[in-house]
Amino acid sequence: MLSTEEKERYTRHFLLDGWDEEAQEKIKNTTVFVAGAGGTGSPTITMLALIGVGCIRICDFDIFMESNKNRQFIHCLGEERVGMNKAESAALTVHSINPNVKVEYFDEKFTRYNIDDMVGDAEIIFDCVDRFKYKFVLADCARRKNIPMLFYGIMDYAYFGYIFDPTKTACFHCLFDEKKVAVVDKLSVNRGDVAVMAPTLFSAAGIMVNEAVKILIGYDKPAYNTFYIGFGKCHDLQNSRGLKSFKYWNTAYFNAEAKKAGFDFRTINKTSMFQTIHIERNPLCPYCQDGKI
Ligand SMILES: [Zn+2]
Repeated sequence: MLSTEEKERYTRHFLLDGWDEEAQEKIKNTTVFVAGAGGTGSPTITMLALIGVGCIRICDFDIFMESNKNRQFIHCLGEERVGMNKAESAALTVHSINPNVKVEYFDEKFTRYNIDDMVGDAEIIFDCVDRFKYKFVLADCARRKNIPMLFYGIMDYAYFGYIFDPTKTACFHCLFDEKKVAVVDKLSVNRGDVAVMAPTLFSAAGIMVNEAVKILIGYDKPAYNTFYIGFGKCHDLQNSRGLKSFKYWNTAYFNAEAKKAGFDFRTINKTSMFQTIHIERNPLCPYCQDGKI
């Protein structure tokens, strides 16, 4: 049940079509897992706290640094957080944003061996990590648990999003080539020199948290089998490191499907600010066929 304070707090939600007290209670009774409390994790966790998700389970082993301050505002509130673990810091901020929200955090690395225990009974996984190899760990966990994972990708001025739902959508392996991503991880993210700014991160997080609420309370049909791409810079795309990375780690199947949908990763040089690519399961994908990870 919602308290009197919660009913007052969420008054503006109840004015939205499809979002009543019953829906708010459903959100209150939900646990989510957020992998990463950095660039995309910061706005994601903030929004989840604002809308009143019952329990946010956060995992991040990283330490907040001065150079994170241009974007990770969840660690920029209150006392100085430089040097603090990001999961711990995010938990502190959530308490001050919305004391009705329970937070659990892990200040350690997740691996394919401990991820199932960490995610526990969470109903949705938010993929807010940088490295693609960890995105595959999360996607494989989502598949084992049969729960949706919301994928984020940020590169330069571009942002990407996709709902991977094991029961409904093309799988992560349909879209991305696990063998190739290790190379890209080494070339970019490992050096910590990925170009990134707050507007792209917040845009991606807004889209994906909105999709998560759709999944939870059903005020609209979630955008299954839809790959989002937003562009903060719409010209000279072939020189964008973000697009170069994607066209490399996409599977040949995804590149071909994107081309059919009118978005050719290999040649496009100018686009509108927002694109969506419809993508169905690859009929030849071994993961979609046998269901084992
Ligand atoms: Zn697949």
